[in-house]
Amino acid sequence: MSNAYKNFIAGQWQDAASGERFDNINPADHSDQIGTFPKSDQREVDAAVTAARQAYKSWRLTPAPVRGDFLKKVGDIMVARKEEIAKLMTREMGKVLKETRGDTQEGIDTAYYAASETRRLFSHTAPSELPNKMNISFRMPVGVAGIITPWNFPMAIPTWKIFPALACGNTVVFKPASDTPATATVLVEILAEAGIPAGVVNLVHGSGSKVGNPIVEHKDVNLISFTGSSSIGKDIQARAGAMLKRVSLELGGKNGVIIMDDADLELALDGVLWGAFGTTGQRCTATSRVILHDKIHDKFVDMLVKRAEKLKVGNGLDESIEMGPCINEGQRGVVEEYVEIGKKQGAKLVCGGKRPEGSQYAKGTFYLPTIFTEVKPMSRLEQEEIFGPVLSVIRVRNFDEAITVLNDTVYGLSSSIYTRNVNQAFKAIRDIECGITYVNGPTIGAEAHMPFGGMKETGNGHREGGWQVYEFYSETKTVYVDFSGKLQKAQIDTEQV
Ligand code: NAP
Ligand code: MG
Repeated sequence: MSNAYKNFIAGQWQDAASGERFDNINPADHSDQIGTFPKSDQREVDAAVTAARQAYKSWRLTPAPVRGDFLKKVGDIMVARKEEIAKLMTREMGKVLKETRGDTQEGIDTAYYAASETRRLFSHTAPSELPNKMNISFRMPVGVAGIITPWNFPMAIPTWKIFPALACGNTVVFKPASDTPATATVLVEILAEAGIPAGVVNLVHGSGSKVGNPIVEHKDVNLISFTGSSSIGKDIQARAGAMLKRVSLELGGKNGVIIMDDADLELALDGVLWGAFGTTGQRCTATSRVILHDKIHDKFVDMLVKRAEKLKVGNGLDESIEMGPCINEGQRGVVEEYVEIGKKQGAKLVCGGKRPEGSQYAKGTFYLPTIFTEVKPMSRLEQEEIFGPVLSVIRVRNFDEAITVLNDTVYGLSSSIYTRNVNQAFKAIRDIECGITYVNGPTIGAEAHMPFGGMKETGNGHREGGWQVYEFYSETKTVYVDFSGKLQKAQIDTEQV
């Protein structure tokens, strides 16, 4: 079976002891099977953690710039394999090729950034309060990193976590989402091809409960980086917290874009369509709410519906397609449930609200771009993350009301404002309670070298991306070197100086 994918533990491609496998199919065409994957459990997690713990002994002592050289090679191989990876990813999870190329490019950018960062893992020195004494701080790796990722960015998100973890000298046990194990396998293949020593990165396929859970609870896993749903994130935080593990969580969103009456409406239209229906609305940063100024409300809704109705839905491998399927039947079911909730709660369905018709859609989990207007603030449609192609339009009378509506959710990931008024733009930047705010751009489009993450229930305060994530993957050691040749007491001898 050429498509029988394996785990990667201690530098070896291997099956799971259970002997069982799970399928991975194309959500745009269920007759297209990508492959089967081992159903692993505690046994493989134990083996992977043991390998990572062993490899840590020498990886932590490998000079950081040498670790960076490996990551540069990883980036080079990803460049060479970019098109192949993008095609596999589209088959595996459905988003269109343009986007899977972007997802892969984000991994490449992250590799080169991480490689250069290994020459820049700065710390502090500060003057001592005593003479002939030097105060230094520097970074140490944390140990074994447990990395658990979702399916919507199958390359970018694992690289955001694994590359900085490796750059800082940690070793990795990686459990990808069950919907996207093939892209994850290619990433690990590339890490191996770049010559990263055995045991430094280990890949364990399987379910959240049988593999994710044991990683979180393993006593030799020192930190957990998780991206996924808020409910699972909270559970992980609680369990890892009880073991005093370092945990980084990137969770859900209910991202809003404010469109003021002075906005460039054509520009806003392009941004809303891209933000709401890119990746079939299955981005943590997807635009799920448009907060529209009353004065331009009807005109903009008109423009929006006309364009949304024309979006070409289908198999993302076809370059002319603009929106792919929902990731799986369960997720499409969630979308359908929310459409019913929207109708029941009095919102007005103005676009989509059903599956596309035609035999070409029969083998996939497709759903039409869907728009509701007259959505009430605090209604379920307006408050809860749907993770699908469903956009809610909320009517507001002024700027203050727009900010209130935008902030009135438990989430705080991405946000945007379209306006030509510079004062309003800066007030929005100051007052929006989100980790990311765009001005005159859609809610999606993070760049790899900038901090990424959310406030409130979107996370637990950490950031990925950019320089900031390197803090998460390292511990600080403080060193005092006393070259006075005598006992000097801090706080006590200082008065005599
Ligand atoms: P999910 O169901 O929470 O799964 C995420 C990962 O956790 C998967 O690998 C999953 O494994 C694993 N998992 C499930 N149960 C677990 C457990 N008990 N212990 C440990 N791991 C467990 O999320 P998803 O459906 O893949 O992704 C969609 C969600 O991710 C959305 O809520 C979205 O907003 C969020 N997201 C957030 C960001 C961000 O940066 N803020 C980015 C992307 C996505 P299985 O796949 O095997 O179930
Ligand atoms: Mg799949």
